[in-house]
Amino acid sequence: MIISVASGKGGTGKTLVATSLALSLKDSHEVVLLDCDVEEPNGHVFLKPEITGSNPVSILVPRVDEDRCTYCGKCAQVCAYNAITVLGNHVLTFPQLCHGCGACSYLCPEKAISEEPRETGVVEWGRSDGVGFIHGKLTVGEAMAPPVIRKVKEYTSNDGTVIIDVPPGTSCPVVEAIKGSDFCILVTEPTPFGLNDLTLAVGTVRELGIPCGVVLNRAGVGDTVVQEYCQKENIRILLTIPLETEIARLYSRGIPLAEGLPEWKDSFLQLFDKITEIVDERSRSIKR
Ligand code: SF4
Ligand code: SF4
Repeated sequence: MIISVASGKGGTGKTLVATSLALSLKDSHEVVLLDCDVEEPNGHVFLKPEITGSNPVSILVPRVDEDRCTYCGKCAQVCAYNAITVLGNHVLTFPQLCHGCGACSYLCPEKAISEEPRETGVVEWGRSDGVGFIHGKLTVGEAMAPPVIRKVKEYTSNDGTVIIDVPPGTSCPVVEAIKGSDFCILVTEPTPFGLNDLTLAVGTVRELGIPCGVVLNRAGVGDTVVQEYCQKENIRILLTIPLETEIARLYSRGIPLAEGLPEWKDSFLQLFDKITEIVDERSRSIKR
C-alpha cells in the first residue's frame, strides 16, 4: 500500500504524521518512508537514518550545434517552457527552465540539437531503526523538482507499506509525489488558512482519483470551519492531534511524536487501520 501525506501548505505537520506513522508500523509491517519534499527534505532530521547509498539525478538538456542550425525557430516554437529561443543568428538555451522533454531535439529539422545530461539533484537511501528511508535533494538554485521526485519513487520496491512525505502546495511536484498512491492523508489545522489550503489539496487529490482523509493537527486553536467542510464534503477526519506544548517541544527537537510519546503509536495504528478499511472498501466497490 502506498500512502502519501500531503497538505495544502507547509508547516501543518506533514512530516510529524509521516514519520510517526512509519515508526508505529515498523514492528508489524515492512515500511519505507520516501521524503519527496525534495526542496526542503527534513524526514532525516526525525528518523536519523544511516545513509548507505546515493545516486545523482540528471535531466537531458539541449545542446545546439550552430554549424548545422539554420535558425528556423522551430525549437523555440515547440518548447512549452521558453527554455530555448532564437535571436537572429543565435540560439539561446536556458537549462534551468528546461523540463528535459526532448521535443526540440526530436523536431529540429537539421538534427542540430543533441542532448546532454545536467545534474539537478541527488537521491540517498538508508535505514533507520527498522524503517527503510529514501529521500531526494534538489540542488540549491534548481527549479525542477519533479525529476528528482520521480527518481526517489523509482527506488522503492512494491513490497510492504510505502509512506510518502509530499511537498507542500498543490503544484507539479505535489502531483508527481502523490500520483500512484492508494490513499492520501491531508494534514491541516483548524483555521481559515488551513481550510483554504485543504480545499485546494482536496481538489488536487480528487482530480487524481485518489481517496483521501484528514488529520487535524493543532486541534484547539482556531474554529470549526475545517470540521464543517469535511462533513459537507464527506471527508473523514481520521486523527486529531491537539495543540500541546510537549508535542511542539518534541517536534522542535527533531523527535518523532510516536517516539517521544509512545502512547501515540496506538493512534497511528488506528489511523492505518481506518485507511486500510477505506482502501479495501473502495477496491471492493470498483470490482462490483
Ligand atoms: S530547430 Fe534546429 S535548426 Fe531550427 S533554430 Fe532550432 S536548432 Fe536551429
Ligand atoms: S527539452 Fe523540452 S523543455 Fe527543454 S528546451 Fe527542449 S523543448 Fe524545451
